[in-house]
Order: sequence, then C-alpha cells, then structure tokens
Amino acid sequence: MREVYDFRLFEDAARRLLPNHVGNVLGVGSARRVVAERGSPDYQAVEAAMRKETRRRTLLASWHVRRRYTAAEVAAARCFLLLPWKVVEPAGEECGTQYDAATACPTCGAGAAQRGDLFIRGRALRGDADIRQTIANEVILSSRVRDALMAVGVRSSMFGAVFVRARGGFSSSTTHVQLLDRPPYVPVDGATRFGDHPFDERNAGRCPAGDTAGLNVLSEVALRTGQTVDERGLAFTDVFCGRRAGLLRPSRHIVISRPVYEALVRLRITGCSFEAVRDVPLIPSHLG
Ligand SMILES: [Zn+2]
Repeated sequence: MREVYDFRLFEDAARRLLPNHVGNVLGVGSARRVVAERGSPDYQAVEAAMRKETRRRTLLASWHVRRRYTAAEVAAARCFLLLPWKVVEPAGEECGTQYDAATACPTCGAGAAQRGDLFIRGRALRGDADIRQTIANEVILSSRVRDALMAVGVRSSMFGAVFVRARGGFSSSTTHVQLLDRPPYVPVDGATRFGDHPFDERNAGRCPAGDTAGLNVLSEVALRTGQTVDERGLAFTDVFCGRRAGLLRPSRHIVISRPVYEALVRLRITGCSFEAVRDVPLIPSHLG
C-alpha cells in the first residue's frame, strides 16, 4: 500500500520553511501544493517544516491522502471502507430533519439520534452520483445501490426514506434512500491513528469519553471486524471522527464486506472510493 499525500500550504510560511524546489506555487503565489508519497524527500520536507512551525494553521491549509493498493492487497482484504466523497448541500437539519440532542455526548456532541426520515432539498439529489453525503454526513444512496446491497444480504432496516421538498411540500423520493447508522458497530483497533493532520501526535479532537476518536483518521483503519461485517455486509465503526460545529457532526465510517465491495465495483458506482481495511483478529474473551 502506498500513501500519496496532497498538501496545500500557505506560501508565506512555506517560503520560510521549505526549500524552493519542493512542490509548486499555485495561482497568484499565496499557496503551494506538494504531492508526495509518505516517506519521500518532499514528504519529509513538509514534516520537518511542520515540526518547526508550532502554529499549524500558518503553514498547512489542507491535506488529503489517497491509499493505493496492489491487486494482491485488494485480493487479500476481507473488508473495505466505503468513503463517500461527493458532498451535497444543504444538510438535512436545514430542511426539517430532526435530531435528538439529548442522546448526544455532552462533551463532543457525537451520537445525536436522528428522529424520523431525512428531509432534503431537490438540489442535493441532482447529478448522477450513486453515493453522496450532506455536509452533516447524512449518507444518501441511489436506489440501484440499495438494490445491489440488498441482493448481497444487507438488511432493509439499514435504509430509510428520503423526503424531497417540492412545490411547498415534501414527497418521498423514488430514486434515493438514506443509509442509516445502525448497530451493531465494528470496533476500531487501537493501532488506528487519529488527529488533525498526518504529523499530529496529540490526537486532536479526541473526546475524553472515547466516542469521538479524533478530527480525522490519519492511518489505514484497523478493525476488529469479527463476524459482524461478514454477516451483515455493511456496518459502521464504533467511534466517530470529526467535530460538532454548526451543522457539522462527528460521524462513523462505513465498513463493507468483500461480497458487498465486489457488487459495488461490478456496478461501477460513483461518488465514493474504497480503502482496504486491516483486519485485526478478535481475541476470544477467555484468552484476552
Ligand atoms: Zn464524546
């Protein structure tokens, strides 16, 4: 597995902290883009600059990682993360979707239960992405994805109706459904790193209650999948990532079994990517 990072840096700080030949200055010269494989000289240059720059926000504007697997690694993986990248607005809450704040963690705000169906505006369903999520991480699937998931054994209780505003009222969508966050959840193994950015060793965003693991996942995700994913086809992680701010909510990751992964690849679905999951064997309780 190779990890290719795409960093956007503020050029004022990058000029001070990085050699000129690292990355490319963008546009009018206010930003620099560095695309670098983990461990490469350019990656190490960004890492060294981040160690020197204690005020992280003055150097690192944003980052993104793509994990690339060999065919053998994909063939060996038992489960995968399903990562929606198509983001739509507005959030359900802006259209009347109800959340029960009393069920949320008082510290990090994670886990507020959605009450009732998802209400959304028509523009959130425009375009042909099969999988999309709102800025509040409400996941919406095309009906062909729902059908494919059910054909490989995902239970109907994982899907909820989507109501779309039209002509002053709401009507139930015939083309889309919501993917519901339902237990049982899959335990994330302690080998998984969380935090703000790849060089964060302080685990930024972790809730003391343990429900939100950090702002972002920083490494390949290691899971103790046990039988849960095999039996159900699709399940969510036990911990959340992200933060509660305005309409944003911490959210869980989606884990799918190999048969579900293969069905979705066959369908050539759009709007998401996949990552192999490192499966950590469960230790039977009489041994652990
Ligand atoms: Zn919490």
